[in-house]
Amino acid sequence: MIPFLDLGAAYRELKSDIDAAVQRVLASGWYILGPEVEAFEAEWAHYCGAAHAVGLANGLDALILALRALDVGAGDEVIVPSNTYIATWLAVTAVGARPVPVEPDPATHNIDPARIDAAITPATKAILPVHLYGQPVDLDPILAVARARGLAVVEDAAQAHGARYRGRRIGAHGDVVCWSFYPGKNLGALGDAGAVTTDRADLADRIRVLRNYGSRVKYVNETQGVNSRLDPIQAAVLRVKLRHLDAWTDRRRAIAAAYGEGLGDSGLILPVTPEGIDPAWHLYVVRSTDRDGLQQRLTAAGMGTLIHYPIPPHMQAAYAGLALQPEALPLARQLADEVISLPMGPHLAMSSAREVAVAIASEPVR
Ligand SMILES: *Cc1c(COP(=O)(O)O)cnc(C)c1O
Repeated sequence: MIPFLDLGAAYRELKSDIDAAVQRVLASGWYILGPEVEAFEAEWAHYCGAAHAVGLANGLDALILALRALDVGAGDEVIVPSNTYIATWLAVTAVGARPVPVEPDPATHNIDPARIDAAITPATKAILPVHLYGQPVDLDPILAVARARGLAVVEDAAQAHGARYRGRRIGAHGDVVCWSFYPGKNLGALGDAGAVTTDRADLADRIRVLRNYGSRVKYVNETQGVNSRLDPIQAAVLRVKLRHLDAWTDRRRAIAAAYGEGLGDSGLILPVTPEGIDPAWHLYVVRSTDRDGLQQRLTAAGMGTLIHYPIPPHMQAAYAGLALQPEALPLARQLADEVISLPMGPHLAMSSAREVAVAIASEPVR
């Protein structure tokens, strides 16, 4: 059996360090925010090359609080990818704004910067690109259009820990960068966790206040905040894992290279990595017009796969109210029918990755 992802493996690798970190928090008597969260924030900001990090409860809250800090709300529009995990859209609608979907570049699956300008209206407040599958979106043209049109850029980096764009780590290119440390992400906690990073002191400060009941001084509430604080136990675990993130990303890169070699003649459409882009390889996503057949064959061979994602946001019942027809966004729809994610993770043996590639290539695929 080759699982899609073995979540327990990272804990087993680092058991003594993680156990000690958790014990340290338990013994400290400090269970909300405090020194462990502050230390992780400093370490994460430094790793990302950002001036500030604010630890939050999860990645969806990171997106929501980033938009709130930018005063995005009712009557505003936010440009989002048509091809993304639904959290990106949910953050926009959670603040009362309208998601305006833009189709992907079919080669990278990421939002196509060339299509963004045409989607901007007088109501547009922000652009929310996603570094999908851990592959940085082409940020320069997006930042240029945002600057020219006076828009904010909020990056959904929930899959892009350690990825680089033109040599610089994702973390402070746009106004705010939003992170998830959901257990399955490249840097994953042992439960829910999230953060924002930013170079803007004003936005870091607003998000810091919003995450803690809108309060800076206990029982003095300057705004209607929420409770979305990073748990210190999770912060302590993340500090241990962060020290291994680069080594883990290297292993993901090696697996991606092995898939690329083993599947070169398979007939599948493989990931395309443009010049200047160094992906974090959160997922290794290939395309087939017989995706379901391929998935059944791999399942029968004991090889786990997942679909990211089977239903695009515009076709979800949650967004029936937007009245977008399936064919309104044909690329998003087509990708949802064709994509399949192969086993990927820092603890996947190279031999297993090669076995998966051999199993796929042993029969013709479309
Ligand atoms: C995981 C993820 C999120 C949400 O993160 P949570 O911590 O689960 O709330 C948002 N966007 C993308 C692209 C994700 O993959």
